[in-house]
Amino acid sequence: MSSTTADLYKFRNSVNRMVDRAMSLMDLPVGIQNHVKYCSSVLQVHFVVKLSDGQFHTFKGWLALHSDHRLPAKGGIRYSLSVDQDEVEALASLMTYKCAIVDVPYGGSKGGLRINPKAYNEEDLERITRRFARTLIDRGFISPSENVPAPDMGTGPREMAWIADTYKALRPDDINYMACVAGKPVTSNGIWGREEATGRGVQYAIREFFRHPEDLKAAGLTGALEGQRVVVQGLGNVGYHAAKFLSEEDGCKVVALIERSGALINDNGLNIEAIKQWMLTNKGQLQGFPDARYVADGTSVLEYPCDLLIPAALESQITAENAGRVQCKVVVEAANGPVTADADEILRKRGITVLPDMYVNAGGVTVSYFEWIKNLQHIRFGRMQRRNEEYRGRAVVEAIESTTGQKVPAIIKENIIKGADELDLVRSGLDDTMRTAYQQIRSIYWENDNIDDYRTAAYYLSIQKIVRAYYELGL
Ligand code: NAD
Repeated sequence: MSSTTADLYKFRNSVNRMVDRAMSLMDLPVGIQNHVKYCSSVLQVHFVVKLSDGQFHTFKGWLALHSDHRLPAKGGIRYSLSVDQDEVEALASLMTYKCAIVDVPYGGSKGGLRINPKAYNEEDLERITRRFARTLIDRGFISPSENVPAPDMGTGPREMAWIADTYKALRPDDINYMACVAGKPVTSNGIWGREEATGRGVQYAIREFFRHPEDLKAAGLTGALEGQRVVVQGLGNVGYHAAKFLSEEDGCKVVALIERSGALINDNGLNIEAIKQWMLTNKGQLQGFPDARYVADGTSVLEYPCDLLIPAALESQITAENAGRVQCKVVVEAANGPVTADADEILRKRGITVLPDMYVNAGGVTVSYFEWIKNLQHIRFGRMQRRNEEYRGRAVVEAIESTTGQKVPAIIKENIIKGADELDLVRSGLDDTMRTAYQQIRSIYWENDNIDDYRTAAYYLSIQKIVRAYYELGL
């Protein structure tokens, strides 16, 4: 078993323990508990592709549909050598819980192909992806109404565009073909704001947490978000956007940044954009970056004193080994499964608040949902309303100016007049989603004496919603 797979088994066990903890507080028949926990169907495929070396290569992949209480199902397609059926099933179940928390009306799914994508050139990867997609489409495991994949580890917008094109070729009569997959490039019927979505969702989750003084007090925090000391692990898609938005827009001080190659510390706050550019031109290395202290042992910096610790890299980073030494008030789980179940118990006993992954990083799936809707309605969000809003805004400004005899200041005028474009609407929908979900989770947390953490509250809420849907469908 590779170390990655070993971690995943731990991660999977962690998830199961957390689900069991929430289920133990609910009065659910065992049959229903099992129905919620296990995948409803799993497809395993083998296929062969002739690659540019002239040889026939065989590949193995899976697609798990965890629940069918809502359709289509939704989940990423992962390309990795560590992929196996257990991993795909575990990740599919997580997707179900995540979608329920943010009221994205999908079931959970996950796809995986056992492959090292870096070992193939682009032409071969396209052939492999198209064949994999075709195999899944032929069996009804990808379609706008059954299952809508998105990017995950090892895949991105490019692969999603190939899958959409393959679907279109096989189902030319399906006018909604573009909705068969999310996370496509914006130029190929994707949506503005998808790339930043998960990091943006992390920012919105933290902002909402700071709107509740009672919750802040329970976490040992006071005041506004501005000036809070933040430590971020991972400067990839999620960590970069979260750190950038929190520091540039909310005035947080990112005092430490942890990457694969070490960590940077500056108590006055790090310049995230400058670090990103530095990494791009220095093969991912942090060492040598000016205006910061470099620490070679990055993992030790998870213990640096801060208000918010945001692990945004990978699973199993805060474990029974280091949880006792972490010096933050709140752990914001931007990655999937960064806190193990054992560590979770230690943090709970220490009174450290954890905002759970299934809520915090749900921004990606939320915006994938918006992309699916956009593809089904065949029109960009805001296209019909934007100018109309501008006409009305202009009329309001003119009315104010003519009745008061005063000019409206330019910046206020611009805000009143501006019509919402697609990015504005995506952010607005995401913000609303993250706020509403947090409010529901905190209600469960505060109203139940036997729930003393947000993770259990989130699972409790999610399972409640799933079970309700099953009963309504008539089990
Ligand atoms: P990514 O590959 O873009 O970034 C991960 C970053 O973490 C990289 O910069 C990498 O160098 C760094 N890293 C890897 N190992 C590290 C280590 N040991 N210590 C410090 N840094 C390390 O991945 P991502 O898309 O940003 O995803 C990060 C996490 O968020 C994963 O757990 C993923 O499952 C989860 N997630 C991502 C999305 C999304 O939309 N991308 C959505 C939901 C959840």
